[in-house]
Amino acid sequence: MRRLLALCSLLAAVPALAQGVGYTDTPKLPGQPWRVHDKDRPNPPVVDPGPAPKTIAPPPSDAVVLFDGTNLDAWQHASGQSAKWELVGDQAMQVRPGTGDIQTRESFGDVQLHLEFATPAEVESSSQGRGNSGVFFFGRYEIQILDSYDNKTYADGQAAALYGQWPPLVNASRKPGEWQTYDIIFEAPRFDENGKLERPAYVTMFHNGVLVHNHRAMLGATRHRDVATYAPHGPTGPIKLQDHGNPMRFRNIWVRPLDLDGPAGDDELDHEDND
Ligand code: MG
Repeated sequence: MRRLLALCSLLAAVPALAQGVGYTDTPKLPGQPWRVHDKDRPNPPVVDPGPAPKTIAPPPSDAVVLFDGTNLDAWQHASGQSAKWELVGDQAMQVRPGTGDIQTRESFGDVQLHLEFATPAEVESSSQGRGNSGVFFFGRYEIQILDSYDNKTYADGQAAALYGQWPPLVNASRKPGEWQTYDIIFEAPRFDENGKLERPAYVTMFHNGVLVHNHRAMLGATRHRDVATYAPHGPTGPIKLQDHGNPMRFRNIWVRPLDLDGPAGDDELDHEDND
């Protein structure tokens, strides 16, 4: 009975979710035949990425280590308060639901980011309620973190999706409770001196070692049930992890700032032809 009541309250809370896996009343995505969180958008094929590595791979020598299991010093809440998530052993930290998102004290522009996460081993809820978090570049461009192992949700909201914009090429999720990796190359958007968008953000990404985005242009800053749009911002911003109410674990987070426009980069690359 308690379970039935919980189900009823869940359904009452999300009336626009048809069958709990998407929407039919959201705006169309520009340049795509789908709506935002489209109920009918096909989910990408499932790929078994193989077992999680037995040991934690150390970061490269030039990485900025954001979390190595010993402390949360690199993180804070948006208010400036120290991060209230908890250290839980196994070199991991865990979301303390209700304490809010945490973000890096340091700001970053173009980066290579490595992070590892594990969704709760005990499955509760479904769709977006199951193992939800997210990593936001500049605090505003989200790559979804979700338990997408045998968990139906709208395609642009599953694990590794550019949330509300693009599903991953494949679903390379591991089982609940198992460690998973994201390796993300994020190229920040460029704005001219008048705040006009010169070049969108681009994402290249591997989920558990499997390619899920190849230089994919982002449509803008992440929105829920609406089309993402850009608003001008500076050349750097914090990297944020989302408290979506689930006790998610994270470990081994590091970042390599990239100088893509500098002498070692290739600023002659024609980014417009590439997506
Ligand atoms: Mg999320």
